[in-house]
Amino acid sequence: MQLDIPYQLNNFIGGQFSPPNNNQYLDNINPATGEVYGQIPNSNESDVEFAVEIARKAFLSWSTSPPEYRFKVLNKIAELIEAHLDILALAETNDNGKPLWLSKEVDIPRASSNFRFFATGAMQFASESHAMESGVNFTLRQPIGVVGCISPWNLPLYLFTWKIAPALAAGNCVIAKPSEVTPVSAYLLAKICKEAGLPDGVLNILHGDGPSCGEAIVKHPLIKAISFTGSTRAGEKIASIAAPMFKKLSLELGGKNPNIIFADCDWNKMLYNTIRSSFGNQGQICLCGSRILIESSIYDQFKTDFIAWAKRLTVGDPLNELSKQGAIVSKTHFEKIMGCIEKAKLEGGTILLGGHAVKQTGRCENGYFIAPTIIENLGPHCTTNKEEIFGPVVTLQPFNSMEEALELANATQYGLSATIWTQDISKATKLAAGIESGIVWINCWLERDLRTPFGGIKNSGVGREGGWEAMRFFTEAKNICIQY
Ligand code: NAD
Repeated sequence: MQLDIPYQLNNFIGGQFSPPNNNQYLDNINPATGEVYGQIPNSNESDVEFAVEIARKAFLSWSTSPPEYRFKVLNKIAELIEAHLDILALAETNDNGKPLWLSKEVDIPRASSNFRFFATGAMQFASESHAMESGVNFTLRQPIGVVGCISPWNLPLYLFTWKIAPALAAGNCVIAKPSEVTPVSAYLLAKICKEAGLPDGVLNILHGDGPSCGEAIVKHPLIKAISFTGSTRAGEKIASIAAPMFKKLSLELGGKNPNIIFADCDWNKMLYNTIRSSFGNQGQICLCGSRILIESSIYDQFKTDFIAWAKRLTVGDPLNELSKQGAIVSKTHFEKIMGCIEKAKLEGGTILLGGHAVKQTGRCENGYFIAPTIIENLGPHCTTNKEEIFGPVVTLQPFNSMEEALELANATQYGLSATIWTQDISKATKLAAGIESGIVWINCWLERDLRTPFGGIKNSGVGREGGWEAMRFFTEAKNICIQY
């Protein structure tokens, strides 16, 4: 199979690549170079309408196919993703600006794991039964029908497949939309699915922006469930449309995660992981710990060591294997982050490191690069410590007691994840129970087991992904009661 990438991408509907009905295209820009290097459809309601019609037909046989068959096809997709790791990783890096080594080590292998994991899910998913004196109930878990999956740009194929794989494993047909900022790996996935033998119409991939294509998916009356990952702002809009239509909704939204460091932590392990959780993927991971809370007795030592390490993170061409930090995903996002840094200064923050763009020469001279930025002297209630920045920017705040750490940790509208560093496991567990978030890591960060529930509370979302949570989301439970 040739995985070539044409200049103009097209939608994948009913197993065919086709242009959007309105013939409107958006530019695709490489953020490391600032160059337009392709175009993608800006699809609208009529494309969604057509895709839903096709998907509904495909649902009849896919939803009733034996689990072994779904396992085989999804597993083959996983294999083909692995086999084409290099081209997929390069596509991801050219679209997103992340270092190529990161796309190769994390993004693409994880996309393959998502399919492999949910392939086995199709085989092992089971439902409950409840015995009564007079009879028995059993729960039939049936696929929903046609579902919508909408994903963001930060971990493009990784998060796209995290939704699509369980939806397909559970027997649904899918209308999926990748971010318009990072469309290419989704285009390549369509080719891979075709090659793997996924029946036509089971997965349909439409390209376009949020207001045009995304909203058309959310509004379509025959799309009965929406799985969305992205900003809290867009999540709010989606909920406002989908809730009155009584659709099933899974919303994975923004975060402002605390990283809580106690004096008794394993220093080297904490420091290594705090660098990762602060600046990994240029700080554009929803799970990044953007508010670092440090026990006062080690505040100065932490500051010195953390700054020294962050200074060594080379910002540069994502294709250069020595670059630890690549480009910010787009000009718009670059400007947003730079605006947040200016705001932090106005709020009285002290920039300890970075706070500026990093000009490159040669191929990347017009790219969007920002230095790792560390800010202190800001309290918990300023905008910088309350609003998601989603870039290589962290703040430092000291605390004097576990109670104060908890108060600072919870002083935000978000509740996605938190990290705790201490050797005292009772203290860590007690704190973890009090933290308002869906995920807490103790003495680690981004340690993932795909079986665990994944998601946030407060303004970080509704519902959980991962493992059986995802399989349950993508099925409807029907209780069947039999009297003896
Ligand atoms: P975004 O909300 O701008 O876009 C996400 C996706 O939604 C894109 O495909 C976009 O086209 C689409 N979209 C936008 N508006 C829409 C609308 N009104 N209707 C339907 N679709 C719409 O988010 P982004 O900038 O691509 O991604 C960054 C955000 O995603 C950050 O806030 C980050 O925290 C969040 N995120 C959350 C998680 C999580 O698991 N909680 C994971 C990754 C990213």
